Amino acid sequence: MNLRQTMHTEQQIKALFEQARGYAFEYAEAVTDRPVFPTQQAIANLDNFVENMPSTSDDAGSILQLLHQYGSPASVAQTGGRYFGFVNGGAIPVTLATKWLTDFWDQNTALQVMSPITAKLEEICERWLQQLLGLPETTAAGFVSGTSSAIFCGLAAARWRLYANQGWNFNAQGHNGAPPMRIIAGRETHGAVIKAIALLGFGLDNIEWVESDDQGRIVVDDMPTLDSSCIVLLQAGNVNSGAFDPFEDICANANAAGAWVHIDGAFGLWAAGTQRLKHLCLGIEKAQSWSVDGHKTLNTPYDSGILLCADRQALVTALQASGAYLTQSFGDKRDGMLYTPEMSRRARAVELWAALKYLGKSGVDELVYGLNERAVQFAEELAAADFNILNNVVFNQVIVSPSDDDEVTQLVLEHIQASGECWVGSSMWQGKKVIRISVCSWVTSAEDISRSVAAFIAARTATCAK
Ligand SMILES: *Cc1c(COP(=O)(O)O)cnc(C)c1O
Repeated sequence: MNLRQTMHTEQQIKALFEQARGYAFEYAEAVTDRPVFPTQQAIANLDNFVENMPSTSDDAGSILQLLHQYGSPASVAQTGGRYFGFVNGGAIPVTLATKWLTDFWDQNTALQVMSPITAKLEEICERWLQQLLGLPETTAAGFVSGTSSAIFCGLAAARWRLYANQGWNFNAQGHNGAPPMRIIAGRETHGAVIKAIALLGFGLDNIEWVESDDQGRIVVDDMPTLDSSCIVLLQAGNVNSGAFDPFEDICANANAAGAWVHIDGAFGLWAAGTQRLKHLCLGIEKAQSWSVDGHKTLNTPYDSGILLCADRQALVTALQASGAYLTQSFGDKRDGMLYTPEMSRRARAVELWAALKYLGKSGVDELVYGLNERAVQFAEELAAADFNILNNVVFNQVIVSPSDDDEVTQLVLEHIQASGECWVGSSMWQGKKVIRISVCSWVTSAEDISRSVAAFIAARTATCAK
């Protein structure tokens, strides 16, 4: 048999897919009880993957077997409920099942004519997100890989619009000889925003920095006077403290000045979709663009960033592409690639649609508020055990330190990570080394929190005994 015939047989017989399904269920059943971070042995076993580029074709079943035997144990048990490092999120079962189904579709979401179903679901998600988050009715959505990409698109749209307002066609004329553009950002602005500023050629040295308060929120009184050349960068959810900038006043001033406000809410913007936490997002609808990740707080699988932009024309024009073979259709049909930097894209919005349809508004509230409740529980139990909680737990983030001594904090952190009981990361907060906790998976239960707190206490005891 030649390779094509073999592949044809594999597709028809389906044993390969049954094998993958078996491994997947085995993984899911074991994930809550195994060490959260892979063991040293599991990591050493990754050498089993090291070889020169194979010269001949291999057996598909053995490839899956290799992946499960040595790959699964070297994964981080992120779906198990006690992973709190980074704002990673979980995957709601219906979104994962949707992904399995749509993997078989293998759709390209660039053009409506390439995939009517995914174009339709992108259009529906666009509308639902506008309604859920309470954004202007004109809001357009681009479905990109993640928030880094979404921020990039938002700032590109901002640049196009602010220049167009000054009679400068940025696409045609570019930066050379262009009137200056001012970038206003808080001291606590996320690295992904800083990266976009550099990538787009604004120059990091040109940023006008605004001081932030003890929670990492921008200080309104420190804002410079705005004008129509300003792009203002705010955030919904500080990556350490989870704090939200004061949007209302800043957006009102920006709008009066003809400036553009982009709000990065990679994990925090979902608060706007809840009943019980939407107060954190007061005034966000007065901004011009927003970036958010489906794969963080909303718990869709990875690779699900969203750029929302109230100015559809600015977004589409900034990201324009052309080619005689590209049938672009404005109006009733929505070509996804008009809203993204990429052309070919997988059908990520289908999982997003499944999450929103499954949860409904009440489910979004239950999910996102539940993360907040468990973060508060984490902080309270740690405080009761004499750990220092360094932030107001308004959302899903807790900043904690066992000691004022950075070295002790580091040792306790390493003990917790090595325990396999839970996984937390570190950060710097107001000049001090801290442990950073992010509660962001639907799986995490109240028991998971208490068990993790016990791991914190055990790690401190072990460190102090040395
Ligand atoms: C995660 C995060 C980003 C980057 O998002 P990616 O999806 O990882 O590209 C940007 N801003 C904030 C606040 C984040 O938490």
